Amino acid sequence: MKTIGIIGGMSWESSAEYYRIINEIVKETLGKSHSAKSIMYSVDFEEIERLQKQDEWDDMADILIEAAISLEKAGADFIIIATNTMHKLVSNIEDNIVIPVIHIADPTAIAIKNQEIKKIALLGTKYTMEGDFYRGRLEKHHKLEVIIPDEEDRKIIHDIIYKELIHGKVYVESRDAYKEIIEKLRDMGAEGVILGCTEIGLLIKQKDTSLPVFDTTMIHARTAVELALEEYNT
Ligand code: GLU
Repeated sequence: MKTIGIIGGMSWESSAEYYRIINEIVKETLGKSHSAKSIMYSVDFEEIERLQKQDEWDDMADILIEAAISLEKAGADFIIIATNTMHKLVSNIEDNIVIPVIHIADPTAIAIKNQEIKKIALLGTKYTMEGDFYRGRLEKHHKLEVIIPDEEDRKIIHDIIYKELIHGKVYVESRDAYKEIIEKLRDMGAEGVILGCTEIGLLIKQKDTSLPVFDTTMIHARTAVELALEEYNT
């Protein structure tokens, strides 16, 4: 079994989900008392959130590079960054280590294309919804048509992530707000919705919408396990 390196703590609420999902899938797959070989480097999210607000992406790159180098030295065979937003810095990380980084958008796009979906809605932080680093990858690399909520709805989505979900607060009113926004995106022609923030899965489940839901935490964690167990499948 390969050792999964996880850059976590962004937030720890979603890192805990990654840890649970990864171990559950390993247990389901291998049975007995099997669990995943993994190493997590968990950062202090207060620091990250402050730097995001200040637009100090170089400083955040330094933090994540240090985490990645530590994971590599500690014996990780590959790395997953347990947040969509911080994939903005994926190439900074890749440039400083030898082991591969499994980009969260790639297995997500594959899952979407496997369902023959072409037009997909993206929910996430404002950085993820508005920047090119994530949408661009889906559009240029994977040839998907990506739509996002309007400005007012993007603020609602973003604020619920930072004020509630990263603190483990899951409220019915916030779920209803998300559901309403997803409905609007469906009316705009979305054939599915990416939960493009690793905490959104705490709030929205498949049963909350008629659109197919692509939970990036679940997809990313599952992909990491598939890679870690490759030797068992050959
Ligand atoms: N976990 C979130 C994401 O997937 C947001 C927290 C962060 O800014 O990293 O984007």
